[in-house]
Amino acid sequence: MRCARAARANGKRGEADGSFRADRLKRMILSEFLAENRKPVLLDGAMGTQLAAAGLAMGGQTNLTHPEAVLAVHRQYVEAGAGLLITNTLTMNRIYIETHHPGLDVREVNLAGARLARAAAGEGRYVLGDISSTGQMLQPYGDLSEEDAFKAFQEQAAILAEGGVDGFIVETMFSLAEALCALRACRAAADLPVIVCISFSTVANGGRTIMGDSAQDCALTLTGAGATAVGANCGDLDPFQTAEVVARMQEAGSPLLIAQPNAGKPKLVEGRTVFEMSPSDFAAGLYRCYQAGARLLGGCCGTSPQHIRAAAELLKKGEEEA
Ligand SMILES: [Zn+2]
Repeated sequence: MRCARAARANGKRGEADGSFRADRLKRMILSEFLAENRKPVLLDGAMGTQLAAAGLAMGGQTNLTHPEAVLAVHRQYVEAGAGLLITNTLTMNRIYIETHHPGLDVREVNLAGARLARAAAGEGRYVLGDISSTGQMLQPYGDLSEEDAFKAFQEQAAILAEGGVDGFIVETMFSLAEALCALRACRAAADLPVIVCISFSTVANGGRTIMGDSAQDCALTLTGAGATAVGANCGDLDPFQTAEVVARMQEAGSPLLIAQPNAGKPKLVEGRTVFEMSPSDFAAGLYRCYQAGARLLGGCCGTSPQHIRAAAELLKKGEEEA
């Protein structure tokens, strides 16, 4: 077993018989680290747009077709300063796979995703298993029952846990109801921390998702259901607007906040969605998210290792001046 808990348990046993060596324990259990740490922690940036830039498919299937390319992107984020890596398994749940990637093996693609991130993270950094939407609306707006969605999320989370992730990140969720279902499923699958990011479509009216959920409702509901951290990623907001949503969640009393904005607002250019914010502007916006209360900071669509490196430098400078 590669998980932190096993490492720690072994360490404690070792301590009792006198053979314990501190340098064998390179990281704390993630839940303890997140509970104790008050400094900003960087996550990685986008995987999909990096793979697309290399001419590869953006989804989790690339874990199986081009594992070396996925590993290389993870490693670039480590070099840029990320302490938490996210697996390339967004939407790799059974429901999304059956509707969008028939023939892809749920187990293989998620195990590969966990192992690739784990290989880049080594023993010193954390890996979060990425879980996102089924791509279908829950009842009563759509046909998908909560029970079926729960089963698909639980199955994916259990496989990611088997692959050695330190925790889960439920992200790019446009509906609080679906995010809540995924959070509960992760908690049922493994005793690991769950971070939940909601995608907001506007900062107006207290920050709203496309389904009308407010930032405050999201923060209160998800924290009440046991999320270790809550926050915002992706959506139609730029990093400065994401900071405003984070501030709303802070007011709601969330214990730990996360922000992973896109590299600016999505723009449609010749039929393609592009994100044009420069690394330095992105870093300034992400720093605003930090000032608004977020301690976990990363990037979503359009962000590259350069964006994360710029953020790392700005956060370091801020700490030195503080
Ligand atoms: Zn995004």
